[in-house]
Amino acid sequence: MAWLRRCIRHETETCEIELVANDLRHTLMELKEWAEPKSPEKRLINILDGVYIYKDPYGVVLIIGAWNYPILLSLGPVVGAIAAGNTVILKPSELSPHTAHFIATVLTKYLDRECFQVYLGGIEETSNLLEQKFDYIFFTGSTQVGKIVHQAAAKNLTPCTLELGGKSPVYLDETADMEKATRRILWGKLLNSGQTCISPDYLLCSKETEKIFLQNAKKILTEFYGSDPKNSTYLSKIVTERHFKRLIEFIKPENIAIGGKINVDERIITPTILINVDPNDRVMQEEIFGPILPIVNVKNYQEAIKFINEREKPLALYIFTKDKEVRNSILTQTSSGGAAVNDTATHLITENLPFGGVGFSGMGSYHGRQGFDTFSHKKSVLIKDFGGFTELALSLRYPPYNDAKTTIT
Ligand code: NAD
Repeated sequence: MAWLRRCIRHETETCEIELVANDLRHTLMELKEWAEPKSPEKRLINILDGVYIYKDPYGVVLIIGAWNYPILLSLGPVVGAIAAGNTVILKPSELSPHTAHFIATVLTKYLDRECFQVYLGGIEETSNLLEQKFDYIFFTGSTQVGKIVHQAAAKNLTPCTLELGGKSPVYLDETADMEKATRRILWGKLLNSGQTCISPDYLLCSKETEKIFLQNAKKILTEFYGSDPKNSTYLSKIVTERHFKRLIEFIKPENIAIGGKINVDERIITPTILINVDPNDRVMQEEIFGPILPIVNVKNYQEAIKFINEREKPLALYIFTKDKEVRNSILTQTSSGGAAVNDTATHLITENLPFGGVGFSGMGSYHGRQGFDTFSHKKSVLIKDFGGFTELALSLRYPPYNDAKTTIT
């Protein structure tokens, strides 16, 4: 048990609690400014009017969370929703039952029950919830369930944000600082044992670059997890038996370049790198969501762009290169929810960068100000007075019409 606590404590504190606390602090600091009605630039026709954008809460928001960062993904959206003035019903994931129970029993003691309620349950309970009419639905989870949520929302024309997953590629070329690149890729891949929505899913590189990557990866993985990663205190376990079995099926022995060891009792899979992977292999057909990194060889960045564009739009895209042309070509010729150059995952924690997917990886975004905006309806408000100048200007629009009125207006 001691080995479990080390990685859980570190990753929970840094990737869950601190991120939510930062979002809260930032929101409290900025909320007054975000919530104030804004006055856009006026045209001549409105020169005498007040022209404003008010931020209205939608009303009752349903937030459905995922299990892999059960605090961040449940409470992160709650921050934006409540800040924007909504009331919230939160449905945490049933696959992280202790956190769900904690949120339901402890957090509710400190928040106004009139504006925050927790509803516990799995598929059946979520399906029942989705039968109800909400003013906004915010869902984090798989693309498959995202489609179900979207259909349910459509019945009541309920706007929704879908924070989904997908296969996030990494492109690595020979100009990158290979040791640093490998360390940054492996860190992003192995955080929470790969059970992270923006985890690098697969690596695209040339055969020559692959060779150097593997040499570095062996050294770095030993640094991270020691010579026997199965017993490392820094690897987290796979969430359920079902997910564990699904992941093991991805590992074909003939493709293993590094790792491939398992500890069934602890549901641990050691960091595994697969080579000579065919794009039609199962590991390249589904989001992996585990500590397995397949490498698909491409000759150059143009081939990488083609490969990425032939697939669904990913949640994240990572580029490791010193070549600005390569970087800009990939950034401008592909579509992804977000992207990072020469790093993985950290675009998610960058305040003021909206976080969300596109296409099959989701719709809408949140974090910081974007979270507040997501949960606010922007209401157009025009205010006129009854003054003489205003009435004179308005007289142009009233019948009887004549050519002079038409020309001036
Ligand atoms: P999931 O889709 O299985 O479950 C998410 C939520 O939906 C849970 O609360 C669950 O109770 C509910 N649910 C499951 N099946 C349902 C059904 N048939 N009808 C109604 N509700 C249902 O996802 P998960 O396993 O919890 O999380 C993993 C997935 O989430 C991965 O695809 C990952 O990439 C994605 N994810 C995305 C983000 C993001 O921010 N974009 C973050 C974390 C995870």
